[in-house]
Amino acid sequence: MTDARFDQKYKEHLQRKIKDLKDKHDAVILAHNYQRDEVQEIADITGDSYALAVAATKVKQKVIVFCGVSFMAESAAILNPDKTVLLPVAEAGCPLAEMITVEKLRLKKNEYPEAAVVCYVNTSASVKAESDICCTSSNAIKVVKSMKEEKIIFVPDKNLGRYVREHVPEKELILWDGYCVTHQRLTREMVEKTKKLCPNALFLAHPECRKEVLELADYTGSTAGIVNYVKDSNHKEFIIGTEKGIIYKLQADSPDKKFYLPTDNFICANMKLTTLGWVARSLEQMVYHVTVPEDIADKARKALERMIAVK
Ligand code: SF4
Repeated sequence: MTDARFDQKYKEHLQRKIKDLKDKHDAVILAHNYQRDEVQEIADITGDSYALAVAATKVKQKVIVFCGVSFMAESAAILNPDKTVLLPVAEAGCPLAEMITVEKLRLKKNEYPEAAVVCYVNTSASVKAESDICCTSSNAIKVVKSMKEEKIIFVPDKNLGRYVREHVPEKELILWDGYCVTHQRLTREMVEKTKKLCPNALFLAHPECRKEVLELADYTGSTAGIVNYVKDSNHKEFIIGTEKGIIYKLQADSPDKKFYLPTDNFICANMKLTTLGWVARSLEQMVYHVTVPEDIADKARKALERMIAVK
């Protein structure tokens, strides 16, 4: 048997095993759009952080297997205190989330006591608990607009914060110096080079990209925004300015369209830690059970629920 056939057989074996374990444990699998293709294939629900946070509040199953990174699983646990939330790989973290601590946020709040704190969901539960409201890249503009305070401490992604600031000039945004290591890797030169090679393609970018990259974008939006833009567009070719994993969803929705990445290295290593093998082990051994201390969870839940209520 060739390596490719063996890999395919093994993949199918693991996918069947996961399905059986899912049924046995009354589990649902949520997977972020940046997960490996084969993980997205076995997921019951795929989406961006916002879609998954909302989905987590609606699922009926007792166990949620969260194929993503730790802050996402924490949010699911906070929103579902009666369910078991599993993160298949304990080390799957987010470098952006690690760029802010509660202690540092408290110091910033002391500096600007009149400001409200809007925190991107890519943060720990403790940072959410210290914030007034959460946001995602899908709803950050709406969330900031919804605040009665004029001054907003926006944490921790400076690129998303700068993008929001441009769309909500009536608010004063104080930005944190954090960034997504994956999106920060994309440079203006990479995009310009790809545009030259693919002159008919539109460039769609995630707001976590640098300002000079967003200036080249024909559309800027979250992964859900990019997916919807492609579905609704008459265009046939797109340069994708976000993590490679999204191509799975784009290609599945629009098989007749072509997608190009400005760099082969547009990969979040943490998102790719989750494999089918780890998902199967997660269900077999019920690991890793994500829990958040009740006092922190109660406060963080308020910030998350306040975000979900923003229409
Ligand atoms: Fe964190 Fe960026 Fe990876 Fe998302 S893509 S998990 S923000 S490092």
